[in-house]
Parts: sequence; C-alpha cells; structure tokens
Amino acid sequence: MKTSDTNFDVIVIGAGHAGAEAAACAARCGAKTALLTLNAENVGVMSCNPAIGGLGKGHLVREVDALDGLMGRVADAAGIQFRLLNRRKGPAVRGLRAQADRKLYRAAMQAAIGATSGLSLIVGEAADLLIHGGQIGGIETVDGRRFFAGAVVITTGTFLRGIIHIGDKRIAAGRVGEKPAVKLGERFEALGFQLGRLKTGTPPRLDGRTIDWSILERQEGDSDPEPFSFMTESLNNPQIACGVTRTTPEVHRIIRDNIHRSAMYSGEIKGRGPRYCPSIEDKIVRFGERDGHQIFLEPEGLDDPIVYPNGISTSLPEEVQHAFVAAIPGLSRAKITQPGYAIEYDFVDPRELFPTLECKRLPGLFLAGQINGTTGYEEAAAQGIVAGLNASRKSAGMEGVIFDRTQSYIGVLIDDLVTRGVSEPYRMFTSRAEFRLSLRSDNADMRLTPFGIDYGCVGPERKRKFASWQQELSAAQIALRKVSITPSAATRFGIELNQDGIRRCAFDLLSLPALDFDTLIRVWPELGSISSRAREAVTTEARYAVYLDRQKEDQQRLERDQELVLGGTFAFENILGLSNELMQKLVLIRPRSIAQAGRIEGMTPAALSLLAAHAKRRDGVSGPGFKTAVSHG
Ligand code: FAD
Repeated sequence: MKTSDTNFDVIVIGAGHAGAEAAACAARCGAKTALLTLNAENVGVMSCNPAIGGLGKGHLVREVDALDGLMGRVADAAGIQFRLLNRRKGPAVRGLRAQADRKLYRAAMQAAIGATSGLSLIVGEAADLLIHGGQIGGIETVDGRRFFAGAVVITTGTFLRGIIHIGDKRIAAGRVGEKPAVKLGERFEALGFQLGRLKTGTPPRLDGRTIDWSILERQEGDSDPEPFSFMTESLNNPQIACGVTRTTPEVHRIIRDNIHRSAMYSGEIKGRGPRYCPSIEDKIVRFGERDGHQIFLEPEGLDDPIVYPNGISTSLPEEVQHAFVAAIPGLSRAKITQPGYAIEYDFVDPRELFPTLECKRLPGLFLAGQINGTTGYEEAAAQGIVAGLNASRKSAGMEGVIFDRTQSYIGVLIDDLVTRGVSEPYRMFTSRAEFRLSLRSDNADMRLTPFGIDYGCVGPERKRKFASWQQELSAAQIALRKVSITPSAATRFGIELNQDGIRRCAFDLLSLPALDFDTLIRVWPELGSISSRAREAVTTEARYAVYLDRQKEDQQRLERDQELVLGGTFAFENILGLSNELMQKLVLIRPRSIAQAGRIEGMTPAALSLLAAHAKRRDGVSGPGFKTAVSHG
C-alpha cells in the first residue's frame, strides 16, 4: 500500500530482514505502520548468501514463524534445496536450512508486505530523527519530508556509514551498488550513542555456465523436504543440487603471496569480522596447516546462471580474486560476475537497549538487526519481530514484552546482546541456549504461538490452524496416557522392561529409544488413528521428558555455582573440552569467579559447568557446600 499520509503509529526505517518483520508485526498488532526504505525493489533482498536457516538459525526462523512472522513462509515459497542439518543427532540440535532462489525470495517477501493491511511502503532515505520532549516523534528524510509516529524502529543493517573494501579500493556504500546512510550515522553519534565498527564480507559471484560441473561432487537436498512454516502445506519448487569443490595448496599460495593486499590485512579495516563466517584470507592465516577448505557452489536461482561460492568471502584485489578462483578445481574457466568485497559499518552497542529493544537513551526509538551488532538474516528477523511488537505496544501506551531466555532462542539472542554487548558480529548457535532441550525447533509453535495470540500478533488463519493442532495433539496425549501395560504383558509384544511389576502407560513407553510407534499400535490398535505428524510430535516430547528434569537440575546447579571462586591462578589452559575460542578468551580475561566467566561473550552453559567442576575438584568439594567468592570482577 502506497500513501501520502504523514501520521503513523509506528515507522520502520529499512526493509531488510529485520525491517520487514518489524513492520509486518506492528501492522498485525493493529498499528498504522509505515515502512521506509531506500528503494522499493530492494525489499527482502538477501545481501549475501541465498540461504535461510542452519544450526541455531533454523530455530530462530521457526520461532519467528510461531509469532506469525514472514521469514518461514517466504523461505518455503522460495526454497530450492532443503536440508535438515544434524539429522542423525537429537531434535534439539537439528537445524533446517533452505537454499533460496533470490528472485523468488524477494518477490514472496514483497508480496507478503503488500498483503499486510495497515502497512504502507514509503521510498526515501531517513536522515534525521524528530525528537519532542526527550521522546521520539518521527523522522525526516533527506529530501525534507517529515513523518510522525509514537514509535520508530531503525533496521538499517550494514548501511550506517558503510564502506566497501576490495583490496585498496574503498567505496562508500551500504551494500554493493547502494549508497550508505551517512546522515543517520552522524545523528546517532550526535545523540551520544555508543557506536562501534564491525565488518563482514561476501565472495565473488560466478557465472555457472563457465563452471566445469562434470568434475565436481554434487550435494543433493533432502528427498522428503520439511518446510519452515507451520502454515506451509507443501513445497512446490523444483529442488536443485549444489556442487562441492575445495581450495588447494596452489590457491593458498596465491592468497598467502597477496595477503598484504587484502583490505583486512593491510590495516585498512578496523572493524572486527564474523569469527564463524571467516574470509578465505582468515582461514588461510588461522588454519594454515590445512591443505584445503570446502567450497559449496550454490546456484542463486532456478533460472539464474549466477552461482554463490560459499566459503571464499574475500577483500583481496580483483586480479588476485581472478587468480585464486581460476586455481580452484572446476573453476579454471569460471567467469567472475561480481567481485567479492568486505564491508565495514557502524553498529550501536546493544547495551544501549532494554530487552524490549527500545533505546534507554531515547524513549520510543527501537533498534533491530545488524545495527545491533548481529550478523545474519535470521538474527535480524528475530529482533525485527520483537521490535515491531514492542513499538506497536509503545505507540498504544501499553507495557513492553520481554522474551525470556528460558522460553525461546529469541530470548537468548536479545538477553546476550543487551547484557553482554558484542565485540564481533553475533550469530546464533544452539550452544548459546542453556535450555536447548526444551527450546526445540519442533515445538516453537507450542512455546510461542499462545503468547503471539495473547499479544495480538498472530492472525486469524494461524490462530484457527493452531487451535486445531493443539486439540489433535492433546487428544493424542490423552490416548497415550489412558492405556497401560505391565512389564510381563509387554514382553509378549517384544518390549523389554524392568520386571518391577509397575504398569507403564503408552506415553512412558515412547520414551524408550528402541521403541517405535508401530509397536505401540500392535499393543493398542486404537492408537493407529493418531496422525503421523502427531505421532512424531508426541514421540519427541516423550523422549525429551526424561532429559528435561536433568536440564532443570543442571541449571539449578549452575545457579548455585555462580559465586564459586576461580582465583587469579586458575589453570584454564589445562581444562580439556573447552573450544579454542573460549580457552583463548578465558586465558586473556582470567575471570575470578564463575559469575564473571558467565559474562564473557560467547560463554556457553556447558563450558561454565566444566569450569565449575574443575574448581570444585581443585577445592576438594563435591557437593554444594563450596567456597564463595570474596570479590566479584
Ligand atoms: P539489511 O538486510 O541490510 O537491510 C537494511 C535495509 O535498510 C535495506 O533495505 C536498506 O535499503 C535500508 N536502509 C538503510 N539505511 C536507510 C535509511 N537511511 N533510510 C531508509 N532505509 C535505509 N550474514 C551472514 O549470516 N553471513 C554472512 O556471511 C554475511 N555476509 C554479508 C556480507 C555482506 C557484504 C553484507 C552486506 C551482509 C552480509 N551478511 C551476512 C549479513 C546479512 O546480510 C545481514 O545480517 C542481514 O541482511 C541483516 O538484516 P537487516 O535487516 O539488519 O539489514
């Protein structure tokens, strides 16, 4: 919906992954919303890799979907290869990933925005914030138009004073071919916000018609693809395969010989890059001993010849990019259609925010997405939905909503950001969640849709569908708890139980890893009427029920251990089982207590338990009666 209106409840600046979710969520909540962006064509653009989801990130997409957000549905409409990662591990750490057709993704996102009632798209560059009586009152564009609202959400991604680096070339840009947001960056600085610089990078794009696919390994998607969204009935796009190749010692030699010409290593770039998505230069400097790094050649669309070579993001000069790409097996004749580049940009220290994503410094102003120091579409979307929800509530004079880390990955993400801040681009992992056994992607709807319904951000269609699913699931649970069997009777069906004479219901039996639903149906044929979807859901729930109590105990133990003293001489170097990254941070920071260690960015619950166990062993304490910290760091 286009408009000439200037008065809104909520204005969202930026229509990337955070902005689209924020605006759509605010509008679903009933706020009259404007979505302001530099270019209408770029709504829903994927700036880097054409893929949604992955480990940890897939959980965020499901949670956004559970709140009736757009990302899951749009990814399903655009997905051209779906893979459930970690399929052989437990459901808690599986991650759904879909490679998307870029054009289909953008079209589906634009259609979803266009179909949201109460949402107007405005093209323009926000240059200034209008402030009245210490509160946000609206925004002004570079061409002098003014728009007014009780709440404003800023989601400008990598655009705040963005600079692209390719070798020693520097181009002021928010993304390739798009100008940066300079005025807004200056405005944040003038308002006294704590700003920092971060960087991220992207690989060169290749013309797929010039790749020798015949010598490359293929990676197929899942044969029975699973959608992201609770609302998706079927996945309709043809599914494609990716190619897989590797860097070679010759590729490494070319990069090493030119490393001083990479923008990152020549000292041109000051901002920190994403540790978990390193450039090819980084991989070769940091993991020099490896003889090769894998590269996935991902087609960017069904009718698009462009290929995204996942794994070789770079800021080397163009001629060096040509040289090292040509040395990669299968790419000797590959044509580069767009060089790789690094981008450096301003971010706002997320400790400036309340957990509602409202700025402490300026009531009514909310920030979401990469501007808060995160990286990734999914992290952006997750913050977008929270900011949109809270901005709509703010404009209506209602209390803000906080997502707890015990209830959602969204809560983990926001709690980490606003309490610990970031020193490098933050991305989600399942290891960041101490409650990951209960925060599974398969139960995101059960955890969050009821909240979404209460807060008004879930539309009537999902509400209906969810109510009928809840009924179906609860009927299945009742049926499973109603029937029971003794251990001796169970033996007759080949079910081996402790011969303790205790009757067990069908739900309890489901927790046995070796037992499948078909065995239950042999015992109780009436359970055959439970749908396959409900069977899967109750089986997962039964299997995890056993571990949930243990999770609670672990958490309580960790809380008790908070005051445990580590001391200045604690031998972090000798602890086996810590990741290199955490070991380095611990050795550098030398926290004096478990509580202080817990505040280190990237610290995981598992690593804290390990530290606590070592400290207790050192002190000869096995139970909870250990020493308490004298001072806190
Ligand atoms: P964006 O999606 O960037 O959207 C920002 C929006 O704000 C745009 O629509 C823009 O037009 C608009 N805008 C900006 N300024 C203004 C203004 N003043 N007025 C109006 N509108 C404005 N993520 C990964 O997970 N892995 C990667 O390897 C990775 N590499 C990346 C490489 C590059 C070069 C870039 C640019 C991004 C990369 N990303 C990567 C990050 C990913 O693209 C972002 O995390 C994600 O898009 C952030 O979403 P967002 O909504 O915060 O911002």
